[in-house]
Amino acid sequence: MADYDNVPVLTTRREDAMGFFAEKISKGLGWARKYSLFTYPYATACCGMEFMSLSSARHDIARFGAEFPRFSPRQADMLMVIGTINLKQAPILKRVYEQMCEPKWVVAFGVCASSGGFYDNYAVLQGIDRIIPVDVYIPGCPPRPEQVLDGLRLLQDKIGNQTHRIGHGGSAPHDLVAGTYGLRK
Ligand code: SF4
Repeated sequence: MADYDNVPVLTTRREDAMGFFAEKISKGLGWARKYSLFTYPYATACCGMEFMSLSSARHDIARFGAEFPRFSPRQADMLMVIGTINLKQAPILKRVYEQMCEPKWVVAFGVCASSGGFYDNYAVLQGIDRIIPVDVYIPGCPPRPEQVLDGLRLLQDKIGNQTHRIGHGGSAPHDLVAGTYGLRK
């Protein structure tokens, strides 16, 4: 440890004031972003039925500010991966993720997306976190809509507590985990 590591950090009143306003702006942006999520539903299998249930009147994801499905990745900031992802689809999923604008978040919906589920074989990706970063994992085969809403609330808490800045993506750049399956650039 160097000597200067023990020296207390001195800030000027101007820096204090700027830090105060930056924190308020960050909180405001976090609050706005967490209640205006535009979902890209990447649905491939049976979990898609649960997504339909989640979006319809009984469970009504609109109550949580995440009701807009967008079918262009450039208009979405929350990627919901819903169902089994096989190795042929993995590069497509990765490209969809890369086409989304920052800041963006990823939800693994069900055990197939989270870990490959019971498809422990050569054709299925054993969890989407092998190719893209995941913010929230939702267990279940399929998960109940209440579980998905619980996962959404977790994600919203996470977004609210992140640092957001004007004119910047908001969260730290994601470090893609793409070492397997030849998907690293
Ligand atoms: S988790 Fe279960 S319900 Fe969902 S896609 Fe996999 S097998 Fe189907």
